[in-house]
Parts: sequence; C-alpha cells; structure tokens
Amino acid sequence: MSQRVAVVTGASSGIGAATARALAADGWHVVLGARRVDRLEALATEIGGEAFHLDVTDPASVTAFAQGLSRCDLLVNNAGGALGTTSVAEADDAEWLQMFEMNVMGTLRMTRELLPAIRSSGDGIVVNVGSIAAREPYRGGAGYNAAKHAVAAMTRVLRIELGGEPVRVSQVDPGMVETEFSIVRFGGDEARAASLYEGMDALTAEDIAETVRWIASLPARVNIDTMLVMPRDQVSAQSIHRRA
Ligand code: NAP
Repeated sequence: MSQRVAVVTGASSGIGAATARALAADGWHVVLGARRVDRLEALATEIGGEAFHLDVTDPASVTAFAQGLSRCDLLVNNAGGALGTTSVAEADDAEWLQMFEMNVMGTLRMTRELLPAIRSSGDGIVVNVGSIAAREPYRGGAGYNAAKHAVAAMTRVLRIELGGEPVRVSQVDPGMVETEFSIVRFGGDEARAASLYEGMDALTAEDIAETVRWIASLPARVNIDTMLVMPRDQVSAQSIHRRA
C-alpha cells in the first residue's frame, strides 16, 4: 500500500472513533481495532478504512491483529479506561489488574508488536493517549492513576530508547472528555456518568482527535513530547467550575 497507514486502538467509540475520522479526513488509511467489531465495521465503511477485532489484553489477539497489517506508519494507543473509584483501603484486585491490562500491557503489546513496521516506515509515530490521571493523583483514582502513570513512564522510556531513529513518540493527556469513559468507569450507571458533566463544558472526543491529527501532521523533525488538554472549566483533576 502506498498510502500511509494509521492504526487506532479502541476505535469503536469516543476518542478512538473520532481520531480515526480525523486521520482519514487528513489522508491516512486507518486500521481500526477494538472488541466491538460491529461498530468498527460501520466506521470503517464510513471512512474507507479497515476493521479488525482486537483485544489488547490478549497477547494472541494483538499478534493476530498485527499479522493483518501490510504496513504501519502511525500507532495511536488509545484503548483503555478506568474501572471504579474505590479507595486504596478498599481496592479491588480484579479492577486494578484489568486497568493495568488494558492501559499498560495493551500499550506495551501493541507498541512492541508494531515497532518493526513503525521503524521501517522511515517516519514512524507512536501516540499514547494518557490522561490528567497520568500527572495528578486524585481521591478514588489510585488504580487508574497508577496505570496512566505507568503509561507516561513507558512513553518517556520509549522516546529515550528510540533517540536517533526516525520514530516520534508523543503522549496526549486529556482532562474530562464526555465519551463512554465514565459509563464504563461507573459500571454502566449512565445517570451517574451524566452527572459528572453537569454544569460544565467537557471536551468532546473530536477535540482530542484534533490534537492527535495535528501531532501526526507535523514535519518529521517536530516531536510533540507531551500535551495536556483540559476543558476551560477544569483546572486540575478534581477542580471543576460548574454553572447552576
Ligand atoms: P470510551 O468511549 O469508553 O472508549 C474506550 C475504547 O477503548 C473503546 O473503543 C473500547 O472498545 C476500547 N477498549 C477497551 N478495552 C479494550 C480492549 N481490551 N481491547 C481493545 N480495545 C479496548 O472512552 P474514551 O474516553 O474514548 O477513552 C479513550 C482513551 O482516553 C482511554 O485510554 C482513556 O483512558 C483515555 N482518557 C479518557 C478521558 C475521558 O475523560 N474520557 C480522559 C483522559 C484519558 P471495545 O469496548 O469495543 O473493545
């Protein structure tokens, strides 16, 4: 394939789906990965991309996904999320392990698997979607904070280890973005998720997609190392301005 290929994980909703649309509009051939293949296929048809089942918590699934690719110039490690808001004192091992599997091990597996193709593209890019949680611990966030801090460390180490090679490594850290993120975090409680965004203007998935598109559009000499993108109404992890 002569067109440059972007792989977007977690492309079945939210930031991943919006990023796939933005990249396709910018001329990328986009390969979509996630577990809900019906959604992926509809989006792939819309943007002229390809859709493959991907579970980043399953090493065999990551390998099978990679084998379906003819090339990879850009990898957007977006699949991930938070589960629960329990305190350290009441932490649930299963939730912590799943958060590490999807955010940390998923990012590691995808990067390791696709790095040979990214390297050989001659101008490769890895964009990891982190979070304000990667920078600022907050009450009830320990498991997600720990996972996203681990992603931030991995992003930095990868950048160091690839120094001198034609590969850029970036991390985009969003604040509050209204997607399915909070519905998943609150175990499907849509009312609780909606209340989180009441009285404030959260970011949209398209706002973060635009930062990824822009990072990937820059000349090869420009590496955006990290970018924190917050709503105007949010000044830190738990300091949010709400209107009545
Ligand atoms: P979302 O709408 O819930 O999207 C999460 C995506 O990840 C879905 O497409 C989901 O697809 C995918 N995913 C989850 N587990 C997966 C797995 N095991 N294998 C493959 N794909 C998997 O939430 P979002 O806000 O767009 O989240 C995208 C990224 O942004 C996440 O890394 C999240 O931590 C980060 N983030 C979000 C916010 C926010 O406020 N929304 C803030 C900061 C950072 P399937 O379920 O179909 O597999």
